[in-house]
Amino acid sequence: MKHLTQYLWFNTRNRQEFINITSEVGKAIAKSGVKEGLCLVNAMHITSSVFINDDESGLHQDFSAWLEKLAPYGKDKYKHNLSGEDNGDAHLKRTVLGREVVVAITEGKLDFGPWEQIFYGEFDGQRKKRVLVKIIGE
Ligand code: ZN
Repeated sequence: MKHLTQYLWFNTRNRQEFINITSEVGKAIAKSGVKEGLCLVNAMHITSSVFINDDESGLHQDFSAWLEKLAPYGKDKYKHNLSGEDNGDAHLKRTVLGREVVVAITEGKLDFGPWEQIFYGEFDGQRKKRVLVKIIGE
């Protein structure tokens, strides 16, 4: 069995950002030499997400507005912030969009449905954070 473990690092300019990481994951698959297998991509932090959706800027603005309605940013809004942090909203946003994705690898490529792309969702950025890419197959 072939396998590859790789970390992608981020340090976003804004507190909240969505970054398309599809091509980075595709490069890792090429490097692994895996033609048939599975690719796991997961955020290594509990205030960021990895998810699959459309790379369409209106939709990303919709995600932001919707998440802000569900879990608005605010120091005094969350019990978690009594611990001295200010990222209670970011933990909740991460939980909504999810921790990881698993994508099939077929003939050496990510086997997506129409319009599917992989995104890193940052909800408490402006510091170094990472994503794990784990590829297994043959
Ligand atoms: Zn926290």
